[in-house]
Amino acid sequence: MIEEIQPNLFRVEVPLPNSPLKFLNSYVIRSSDRNLIVDTGLNRKECLDAMHSGLQALGIELKKTDFFITHLHADHFGLVSKLATSTSRVFFNRPERELIEASGWWERMVAYAARNGFPENELQAAIRSHPGREFASEWVPEISVLQDGDEIHAGSYFFKCVSTPGHSLGHTCLYEPNKKILVAGDHILIDITPNIQCWSDDHNPLQNYLASLDKVNKMEINLVLPGHRRLITDHKTRIAELKEHHQRRLKEVISILGSDPQTAYQVASRMTWDLDCDSWEEFPRAQKWFATGEAIAHLRYLQRKGLIVRKDEGAVTRFTRNDHTGLLDALDL
Ligand SMILES: [Zn+2]
Repeated sequence: MIEEIQPNLFRVEVPLPNSPLKFLNSYVIRSSDRNLIVDTGLNRKECLDAMHSGLQALGIELKKTDFFITHLHADHFGLVSKLATSTSRVFFNRPERELIEASGWWERMVAYAARNGFPENELQAAIRSHPGREFASEWVPEISVLQDGDEIHAGSYFFKCVSTPGHSLGHTCLYEPNKKILVAGDHILIDITPNIQCWSDDHNPLQNYLASLDKVNKMEINLVLPGHRRLITDHKTRIAELKEHHQRRLKEVISILGSDPQTAYQVASRMTWDLDCDSWEEFPRAQKWFATGEAIAHLRYLQRKGLIVRKDEGAVTRFTRNDHTGLLDALDL
């Protein structure tokens, strides 16, 4: 499916089979000079077919096309190696280029998940079924790094990069100040909430995410073009809802924690999830993985705020409640 959103700015719907996200929005800017494609889909046949037929219908020649990828997740980055030609530039952010180029990335995540209580016997299966691994780009094309404030243009569109870490380490949106359009990747979505995961001791992704929401909230935007689902016209209302969602989540995590130390995996199993399963045991393994990453992100945020306590015993990290219940109300995001 193709939709012309503004003159020469198109949304191509790329199916994501078996994913609760349903489809990816790839944005295509057509120009007599060079075209620009923002985000591409998973590296799998269904996505490639949809992109090929969409681009053909729009008369887009790939050898006259550059790419901007909002973040490293496979549903955005995975297909770029199949579409980019030797004359294409692939624009991307620096923190995630470094992640992709560093070896042992998955192994470190697996070790971190084990430390946070993910059962050994489920770990390998969860990783095998992880779409980020199964449908990743087979090779990494040469990357042109763009940073916050850098500009990139295509046809009559002059975009500025807006660094919005949180959903991922280097997530970057594109802002068109004249047309007041934000190409938002997975920073702001509607009907579903962007997944905020943490897989390292060095980061505080939820803190970053909330700061990035505040940054975008201040911008003048008439239309948000998100990476999934439908377009958003009132970004401030959606941002307020997303902040409320995380506030509720943080309170839920505190209420789950008692005086007995719990791992992030145990906390995740007690949180409420919007999935069609009766119990945690029925969760698909990949969803258990995402849920645990999300629990860690909320636990990290609370721990850095001093509201909960982390205990590292042997090879396992657990968390307990801090007896500052009064501080709960101070959780003002
Ligand atoms: Zn996505």
